[in-house]
Amino acid sequence: MRALTWHGQRDVRVDTVPDPVVVDPTDVIVRVTSTGICGSDLHLYELFGPFLDAGDILGHEAMGIVEEVGPGVRTLVPGDRVVVPFNISCGTCWMCGQGLQSQCETTQVTEYGMGASLFGYTKLYGQVPGGQAEFLRVPFGDTLPVKVPDDAPDQRYLYLSDVLPTAWQAVDYAGIPPGGSVTVLGLGPIGDMAARVALHRGAAEVLGVDLVPERLSRARERGVRTLDLAELGDGLGDRIRDLTDGRGTDAVIEAVGMEAHGAPFTKAAQRVTGLLPDALGRKLMTKAGVDSMTAFDAAVDAVRRGGTISLVGVYGGAVDPVPMRSLFDKQIQLRMGQANVRHWVDEILPLLDDSDPLGVDEFATHVLPLEEAPQAYETFQAKRDGMVKVVLTPGR
Ligand code: NAD
Ligand code: ZN
Ligand code: ZN
Repeated sequence: MRALTWHGQRDVRVDTVPDPVVVDPTDVIVRVTSTGICGSDLHLYELFGPFLDAGDILGHEAMGIVEEVGPGVRTLVPGDRVVVPFNISCGTCWMCGQGLQSQCETTQVTEYGMGASLFGYTKLYGQVPGGQAEFLRVPFGDTLPVKVPDDAPDQRYLYLSDVLPTAWQAVDYAGIPPGGSVTVLGLGPIGDMAARVALHRGAAEVLGVDLVPERLSRARERGVRTLDLAELGDGLGDRIRDLTDGRGTDAVIEAVGMEAHGAPFTKAAQRVTGLLPDALGRKLMTKAGVDSMTAFDAAVDAVRRGGTISLVGVYGGAVDPVPMRSLFDKQIQLRMGQANVRHWVDEILPLLDDSDPLGVDEFATHVLPLEEAPQAYETFQAKRDGMVKVVLTPGR
């Protein structure tokens, strides 16, 4: 089959690789009809080289048609249409029973101290081949794949694999009070959808921050009050306080992660981190091209005292500093983690109808054949050409 494989930093290629086969009796093989490119794939593309092997198949947002089922599968038959959650959860362990599928004890990757295995996310997360390919082996055929109707094009359902549950959980964890306010940092696919979900679930004011004009205008069209970071620079926190009686928003959803692009942020960084030497030290620590203030710092700055930060963006570890003084002093509540995808599906499914309140049918900006994936990665990373969400169509 054809599949998108990793070969080095910013070097992904479409190669011919062996077809997946049924290994465990409860496996199913899915012919992938649609599969997304995600901001999380950009971490692999740019940063996580040491955890990748040449030839690793990427992709964790997939849906398609069941092609083959293992002898132990009871609920699916070839021809069924399914969406595949990005975390590989068994559905029967203690954590899955708690709705914490991202911590599934059956597929946990203990070697690196990680939670559940993920599709297409290297040896860090269980070395499971990904879904940017013509076919995908999916374990736990009776509990993991989500069976969806045949009544609408793929894009109606595809985002159940990641974007929708991730945005839904981000809003849930943000705990926005009725009639309250939230700032969404980052208006990529995840932040954009989180802003839509926040409005849908009753937030009175949703502020959205980015520095890409097309992403700002896309959010504005859906009722978000947008703030352009490129203009505001380190005045972002002050601007948000101006708009909220001097306090900051009740909640902040941080949908950027470790590869934040930013302005100088010096004044704001000082306010958040406390001492200037701290900020200077941080500057030395952070990666080239990333300034002294992380998007997480911006979240700490923007949230009101006693408010909540819901952290969706991915961070890499010790290199990412945590402003403990401000978190403590502002009495900030913090929730985070990978989306428990399977947990939220039942709540979201009723919204995927013809009234389309979240705008999923038109969410993709680019639908492309798998062969164009390398170019799409490049453009998506550069945030050019109005590209926000790319859907690849390998097995059609
Ligand atoms: P993306 O890269 O398209 O979006 C990030 C956006 O942030 C971009 O639009 C960028 O212009 C903007 N940005 C950069 N620096 C900023 C700053 N300082 N302030 C405000 N905005 C800034 O990616 P995405 O697909 O939307 O994903 C966003 C993050 O969510 C990534 O870190 C991704 O790994 C993570 N993610 C987490 C989960 C989860 O389960 N927790 C699931 C999916 C994605
Ligand atoms: Zn994703
Ligand atoms: Zn489990």
